[in-house]
Amino acid sequence: MTESYDAIVLGLGAMGAAAAYQLARRGAKVLGIDRYAPPHDQGSTHGDTRITRIACGEGPEYSAFARRSHEIWRELEAETGLDLLTQNGFLAISGAGERSANHGVAKFLDATAAAARSAGVKYEILDGATLRRRYPAFGVADGDQAYHDAVGGFARPENCVTAQLRAAAARGADLRSGETVVSFVPHDGSVTVTTDKQTYRAAQLIVAAGAWLPAMLKPALAANFMVTRQVLYWFRARSEAAHAEFAPDRFPVYIWQLPAPQSIYGFPATGGIEEGVKLATEQYDVATTPESVSRTVPPEEVREMYETYVEPFFPSLSPVCVRSKTCLYTWVDKARFIIDRHPDHDRVIVASPCSGHGFKHSAGVGELLSQMALEGKKPDPRFAFR
Ligand SMILES: Cc1cc2nc3c(=O)[nH]c(=O)nc-3n(C[C@H](O)[C@H](O)[C@H](O)COP(=O)(O)OP(=O)(O)OC[C@H]3O[C@@H](n4cnc5c(N)ncnc54)[C@H](O)[C@@H]3O)c2cc1C
Repeated sequence: MTESYDAIVLGLGAMGAAAAYQLARRGAKVLGIDRYAPPHDQGSTHGDTRITRIACGEGPEYSAFARRSHEIWRELEAETGLDLLTQNGFLAISGAGERSANHGVAKFLDATAAAARSAGVKYEILDGATLRRRYPAFGVADGDQAYHDAVGGFARPENCVTAQLRAAAARGADLRSGETVVSFVPHDGSVTVTTDKQTYRAAQLIVAAGAWLPAMLKPALAANFMVTRQVLYWFRARSEAAHAEFAPDRFPVYIWQLPAPQSIYGFPATGGIEEGVKLATEQYDVATTPESVSRTVPPEEVREMYETYVEPFFPSLSPVCVRSKTCLYTWVDKARFIIDRHPDHDRVIVASPCSGHGFKHSAGVGELLSQMALEGKKPDPRFAFR
């Protein structure tokens, strides 16, 4: 007998775990399937921390998702006891002269301030001297300035996935890991989902497959996406005193538009000196796939990162890289999200809200996906396939 569900969620990473939780919370009979055992480090949702900010320079249409995600994570912290969200402030730093764009936005600081005004987020603009005095770890130049708000901070991606899967299971969701979906075929009134283990049926299917999504779509749709390899680095501070300057109560999360090809972004230290301080840049030049990506980070790559993006801006961080990790972006032009019905199958919802800034929105996106599946809610047309 083929088992039947109100909704099946394909992929239980950031978006799928959130969708499964929201579906179960609404009383739906839900099945979640993942090829690995989330949270895992093969996709896009690992590496300890993700920046969250309600004022989104990528566009004002994103703020409501981030705000709602904060509310949901606070509820889940109370339910599960897991640490999900730290609001230690957000800085968008820029300065005079030619600067790197961030997520395709040239004047990211200005765009962030505009998004803050539209979302009703209080902020201040700091000059270089104030920045250095308040946050001595940043090696900013005199002409640099920064947007600062107190509602931004960082989320814990692995804990968020765990909390939502736990809360979904507690509400009766059927969650299966180590099972790979090999096809989905819509019929009149249902979708048949076949895995490497068995076949299921559902009224609605949510495809939240992250970097594996393009391979599941016909070429014209897959052409919306580009999967890229990204690298996260943790560098050791030069001394205990230097490490202390990166403590969460003294050091906010930041995105820094540099006089260099790429921006950098980073986090406060979340552990002792041996665990390092995490920061990263982004690359959009080379496309890859989850199967073919190189998951090792050679010493030359670490050295180049340190010399170009770390030493000139954080002089108190040493060249010792205590940890590095690769991760995958699923990029859509102009850093857009795609959250839409499959153009050929109206019982299939496709969720690819990534473009390198999706995590902060994931809990709110999961809520929208559950409303699309159960209530026929329509997403913002800005998130449609093109
Ligand atoms: C290095 C890096 C830094 C980032 N920094 C930030 C940040 O600071 N702030 C922010 O907001 N966002 C950030 N992001 C973006 C954010 O992390 C992603 O948008 C988000 O995690 C994507 O979640 P997802 O659910 O789409 O993908 P994933 O979490 O990868 O989930 C997809 C899941 O689908 C499963 N799957 C795939 N195919 C199948 C199949 N056939 N059958 C069964 N299961 C399948 C996979 O196993 C996987 O678990 C960053 C991303 C990266 C890579």
